[in-house]
Amino acid sequence: MVWIPALVEVGLGVAALAPFIVHRISVGMWRKKGIEYPTTSTELPHVTVLLPVWNEALILEKKLDNLAAQNMRFSILIIDSASTDSTVSILHSWLKQNPDAFDTTTVLEMKERLGKTEAVRQALASLEEQKNQHLICMTDADALLPPNAILRLQGWFADPTVGAVGARAVRRQALSSERTHRSMFEMLREGESARDSTPFLEGSCMMWRQKGFASQQLNVHSNADDAQIATGVRLNGLRSIHDGDVHFEDIAPTSLEGQRRQKIRRGQGLQRLLVSHRKSWFDRRLGTFAGILRREAHFHLFAPVLFAAAGCTAILRWGIIGLAGMPNGELAVLHGSLALIELGCLTAWLLSRQGIRVPLLSTVGTLFSGMEHLLIAHWHSLRGRSLHMWDQHSDTRIVLAESEDLN
Ligand code: GDP
Ligand code: MN
Repeated sequence: MVWIPALVEVGLGVAALAPFIVHRISVGMWRKKGIEYPTTSTELPHVTVLLPVWNEALILEKKLDNLAAQNMRFSILIIDSASTDSTVSILHSWLKQNPDAFDTTTVLEMKERLGKTEAVRQALASLEEQKNQHLICMTDADALLPPNAILRLQGWFADPTVGAVGARAVRRQALSSERTHRSMFEMLREGESARDSTPFLEGSCMMWRQKGFASQQLNVHSNADDAQIATGVRLNGLRSIHDGDVHFEDIAPTSLEGQRRQKIRRGQGLQRLLVSHRKSWFDRRLGTFAGILRREAHFHLFAPVLFAAAGCTAILRWGIIGLAGMPNGELAVLHGSLALIELGCLTAWLLSRQGIRVPLLSTVGTLFSGMEHLLIAHWHSLRGRSLHMWDQHSDTRIVLAESEDLN
C-alpha cells in the first residue's frame, strides 16, 4: 500500500518542480546574450513622473526632494486618494517652496480611496486626455532613486521596440531570506527580458510609452498594477524589459509578518493577472513570450497546489506506515529516500520562514516559502477576499523618514 502514495508524491513533486528547473536553465542561457543599451542619439519623448500617494506625510518631502535631485527635467503628476493625514498640505507647501522643481506639476485629489490601481487608472486617463505621447515613469513614495535613474530609463526608448523598462530593487534592512528571493527574482526577469520580455516589473520605479498601454486595460479590482502594465505593453506588441543597471532603494517591512503580508498581496495580484491573460498562454503570435507566460502561470498558479498535494500524500504515506508498520526491501528504500528528501525540504522551508539563510538550503527554502505565500493568496481568492487595498507598512515609513544616508 505504501507504494501508491509514494509514487503519487514523486509524480506530483516532479510535475511541480520540473518547470522551475527548465526555466532556470533557459534563463541561464538567455541571460548570456544580454540586451544592449541604445547608444544612438535620437530625440527622446518627454517624461511625466506619476506618483500615487496615500498617507505618505512622513516621507513625502524626502521623496519630492529626491525627485527634484534627478539630473534631468520632467513633468510630475501626483495623485492622492483621500489621505487622512497631512499628505496633501505637505505636498502643496513643498510645491510652493519649490516652484521650479519640475517642468509642469499636476495634483489630482480623489474624493475616496479606491486602491492604488484605480488611482493609477485615473492618472493615466487624465494624461490620455492631454493627447501627448510622453513616457510615463511611475514611482512609489517609499522608493528613492539615484540621480541618474530617470535619464537612464528614458535612454532605452531610443529603441522603438522597447515599450516598458523597470529598475532593480535594492531592499534595505532585508532579511537574508528576502535577499535570496530578490536575486532569484532578478535573474528570472533579466533572462526573460534578454530573450523577449518579462511580464513582471516593479512599480516602485518603471517607465513605459504612453501609447504602449491604455488606462482601460487596468483591472482596478486587482493589485500588481505594475505587472499589469508590463504584461499589457508586451501584449500590445512592444517589449517589456528589466534593467539591472539602474536601481531604486526601498525598505523591506521590518517584521517577518509584514514581509509575508506584502508577498501574499503581491502574489495574489500576479495570480489574477496570469489568469486574466490565460488565452495568451497559447497564443502563437506571441512567440517565446507565450511560453514565458505559461511558465509563470505554472509557478504562481499550479505549482503551489501541486506542492501542497505532494505534502498531503507524504502525510498519508507516513500515516499508513504508522498503522501498518515499516515496509521491507525496496519499499523501505523508497520510503527512506523520500523521508530524507522530506526532511531536507522541511528544514529548508522552516529556516526560510524564520528568515534564516543556510547555504544550499536557501534556494529550496525560498521556493517553498514562496509557494506557501501563493497558496495563501489562492485561499484568499477562493474566499472572495481581494487584497487590492492594503494597510500601509508604516514601519517602513518610520525607518525611511529617520534614515539620513539613503541614496
Ligand atoms: P508596497 O510597496 O507594495 O507595500 O506598497 P506601498 O504601500 O509602498 O504603496 C506603493 C505606492 O502606492 C505608495 O506611493 C503609496 O503611497 C501608494 N498607494 C497605496 N495605496 C494607494 C491608494 O489607494 N491610492 C493612491 N493614490 N496611492 C496609493
Ligand atoms: Mn512600498
